[in-house]
Amino acid sequence: QITLGNIRKSFGSSTVIPDFSAQIEDGEFLVLLGPSGCGKSTLLRMIAGLSDISGGDLRFDGTAVNEWTPSQRGVAFVFQSYALYPHMTVRENIAFPLIMDAFQKWYHIPVVNSVMRWKLMRRPDIAERTDHIARQLELTPMMDRRPANLSGGQRQRVALARSLVRDPSLYLLDEPLSNLDAKLRTQMRSEISALHKRVKKTFIYVTHDQVEAMTMATKIIVMNKGEIQQIGTPDEIYANPANTFVARFVGAPP
Ligand code: ATP
Ligand code: MG
Repeated sequence: QITLGNIRKSFGSSTVIPDFSAQIEDGEFLVLLGPSGCGKSTLLRMIAGLSDISGGDLRFDGTAVNEWTPSQRGVAFVFQSYALYPHMTVRENIAFPLIMDAFQKWYHIPVVNSVMRWKLMRRPDIAERTDHIARQLELTPMMDRRPANLSGGQRQRVALARSLVRDPSLYLLDEPLSNLDAKLRTQMRSEISALHKRVKKTFIYVTHDQVEAMTMATKIIVMNKGEIQQIGTPDEIYANPANTFVARFVGAPP
């Protein structure tokens, strides 16, 4: 369970999130829905620990985590724009977070050379986990290729696999499908929904796309200018929009 208690975020003198409170239950697929610039990414980055919280507290199962590092929080973060390592194969790209974890446990330095990478990738636990996530995202046939030889959608799937390979307890996805064409987006939408059903973990998914929100969410928070406009299931929000902003944004009848 994640509790956001009066969370505030300011950049210098400008406050982007004045006072945000919400509770997210285990196993939920929560969508943060709102227009560009309303503070969705900022909120997600604070939950991930990638950005400081200016005020209020964030709790995981009742424990304040404001001071925890991203890795202590056990989250996977999928960014709006992603970058794969061009010199590494798909397999190495996917295994990379596991390789770094294993490597840092021994050496406490952040650089790993290609020989070490090659060795670690063959360690049974790492190889198994990498193959498992690759199967889930249908990447098995292309494990030895490099990113330059993949389609855009395949690259995005590799990026997704790399973010999820650590088997996190909390999945944070920031518009992960924004660079895809319509057909792939539909396909990836169902893959992510299927993943959520399979792993039974909490997902927080940021989008400004109403269709994505309506089809994927178990719960939606509609935001505008850093403030909550409405919290509810897709059906509740569509049937009973709290105000004209929500009605317009989700395309519900007025
Ligand atoms: P989009 O849908 O376009 O990704 P968003 O809802 O994710 O938008 P945020 O990226 O959270 O929006 O930004 C919210 C507001 O905070 C914006 O006005 C943005 O300009 C501002 N902002 C974000 N990061 C910073 C920063 N590092 N310094 C100053 N202002 C920032
Ligand atoms: Mg954003």
